[in-house]
Amino acid sequence: MIRLNEIHEKILSYNPDADLDLVNKAYVFSAKVHNGQVRMSGEPYLIHPMEVAGILASLRMDIPTIAAGLLHDTVEDTWATIEEITDLFGKEVADLVEGVTKISNITFNTEVAKQAENFRKMLVAMAKDIRVIIIKLADRLNNMRTLEYMSEDKRVGIAKETLDIYAPIAHRLGIYWLKSELEDLSFRFTKPEMYYRLSKMVAKSRKEREKYVNEVEHILKETLEKEGMKVEVSGRPKHIYGIYQKMEKANLDFEQVYDITAFRVLVDSIKDCYQALGIIHTTWRPVPDRFKDYIAMPKTNMYQSLHTTVIGPKGERAEIQIRTHDMHKVAEEGIAAHWKYKEGKLVDAKEDVTFRWIRHLIEWQQELKDPESFMQFVKVDLFPDEVYVFTPKGDVIELPVGATPLDFAYAIHTDVGNHCASAKINGKIVPLKTPLKNGDTVEIITSPTAHPTRDWLRIVVVSKTKAKIRQWLSKEEREQSKKIGKELLASEFTKFNLDLSKFINSNEVDKYLMEANLKSIDNLYSQIGYGKLSPLQTIKHLIPIDKLQEHKPKSDSAISKLFKLVARKSSTAVKIKGMDDILVRFAHCCNPIVGDPIVGFITRGRGITIHTADCTRTLELDPERKIEAEWDTRSNILRPVKILVTGIDKPGLLANITNSISSLGVNIIRASVAPNRNQKSTLMFEIAVKDTHQLRELINSISKIKDVTNVERVMAGETA
Ligand code: MN
Repeated sequence: MIRLNEIHEKILSYNPDADLDLVNKAYVFSAKVHNGQVRMSGEPYLIHPMEVAGILASLRMDIPTIAAGLLHDTVEDTWATIEEITDLFGKEVADLVEGVTKISNITFNTEVAKQAENFRKMLVAMAKDIRVIIIKLADRLNNMRTLEYMSEDKRVGIAKETLDIYAPIAHRLGIYWLKSELEDLSFRFTKPEMYYRLSKMVAKSRKEREKYVNEVEHILKETLEKEGMKVEVSGRPKHIYGIYQKMEKANLDFEQVYDITAFRVLVDSIKDCYQALGIIHTTWRPVPDRFKDYIAMPKTNMYQSLHTTVIGPKGERAEIQIRTHDMHKVAEEGIAAHWKYKEGKLVDAKEDVTFRWIRHLIEWQQELKDPESFMQFVKVDLFPDEVYVFTPKGDVIELPVGATPLDFAYAIHTDVGNHCASAKINGKIVPLKTPLKNGDTVEIITSPTAHPTRDWLRIVVVSKTKAKIRQWLSKEEREQSKKIGKELLASEFTKFNLDLSKFINSNEVDKYLMEANLKSIDNLYSQIGYGKLSPLQTIKHLIPIDKLQEHKPKSDSAISKLFKLVARKSSTAVKIKGMDDILVRFAHCCNPIVGDPIVGFITRGRGITIHTADCTRTLELDPERKIEAEWDTRSNILRPVKILVTGIDKPGLLANITNSISSLGVNIIRASVAPNRNQKSTLMFEIAVKDTHQLRELINSISKIKDVTNVERVMAGETA
């Protein structure tokens, strides 16, 4: 238990002229009225107001606040009245006690309307005198420290309320240590299993961490001092709730998060901050996009610092925060760091920036009448890095700034995300990449045929969403590869006049799978499908060479070829030798049209990409993945192709060309005209053609038009 003279010492350390009489008087009164009362822990009640006063002294509060801390429960819990407090301690102390008493009667619960009303009351109390809220925070901290003595059903509720309301307020006031302690204590009671698991892991790795941290601290200090700098360096382990949040947010393992220890470099001036940053960045490689300049752009709670992450001296990522001693004080103490004492009295407290923030909040909130928008508003200001959006039913979804409708869809449910077809914001259809704004109502339109694509990974910002999309894609890749691999192997078997299906359950297969360290036949298929194993090599492993020679591959007879063609049920335009119904895409680099000689390449998990046989890009591709392909002459698909027409810039040229194209029954998808200098004109048409034959016909017919000087087909990659 903290003793009165310890509180005295604390106060005198930052306010040497303080008049301690008022504190002593409050102590005697509190002891008298609380006499005989006990806390849930069985200890005398007086311990609680004493501890609260001690916390307030740690926050460097003034004498009336500390006196009010000692008295904060007297009106609520004893026979003492507010009139009595006014008579004995004056109006200032009495107002503080009354303010705290009023806030204590506020209970937060889940109903938005009630919660909003209570929050409003709390803000009013804060705006009148911020010291009220600081007493309340000290009160809550001591209650959280002794929460285990509370009945079990109350614990979780109090802990949740602390996490929802009090920790964010401490954060907003910039009091880092108070915020962290409130969060850790709340975490322990709201998610006990996770809390104890993480704290065990932290304790277990502490020894080796300490060694690592000491080494890096030493190297950092030495490096900076060698350049003539005067620095203080320390490594700070993250608090448990901070670790948990980081794991959740970035979807990381404990090891990955714990690796990122924050190192702090304290220097004398702002100039030194940037100099230290320069030295650190030239000594160790900075991780891109991790540099933040909170000196030029302070956070809303006045936090200032440079943040960077480098690949540190031990090859591990190290987060480094560089700031001056003054900035450090603000970072740790927040609002309390600004307070100055003159002749024992607090000066200029009401001019504090944070205090101004609360006043503004009060002014604004008067315009927000309905509870939802008020709560939303308060939350936005308490958590500036989040956006709050609504479902059509009015539920609030919290997302990081920059989140898109796709993030929203996945936040609702993974299935909604995986089938997200389009989105509406406030009733209007928008692109899926539109960043959400506070207060948007978002509606997701799903379709059974919609599914994730690689592009989605670039649209979303929530790492959990990314992980879910990746999960879907890799499952899809596996399925595709399995299918392709099986088809490829089966067709290789057919070449040797063998039947794969008859062979699947043989001992040779099991033996080979074991040798090749493959778990199952599906595993083998997907390895072939990914292009990691070639079908020919596989078959050579599976079947003894002499037996294989009996079954020399022979070319299909004309009749069997014809038979196969007719038997095919495939609707795709491309035939891959021996395979049915395979997923095919056309390469953008060469954009093949029907009739062009073509080749296929197995693309990891995305089926087969068709290039023209002479496409230069194919030279860069792994020949192992090359596969024969030809056009299916029975299909009548149209393929887009671009043609470039050059001519003399005269009226009617465009019309003549367009007519010529239409007369051949060809559709124009797009046309653009770029007049050149010296009376020449360049026209680009994108048209849909049946095949090379039709394209040739078209080019011929356009060439014959008067004033046309040149017509050519454009390979997609060549155009700007
Ligand atoms: Mn209390």
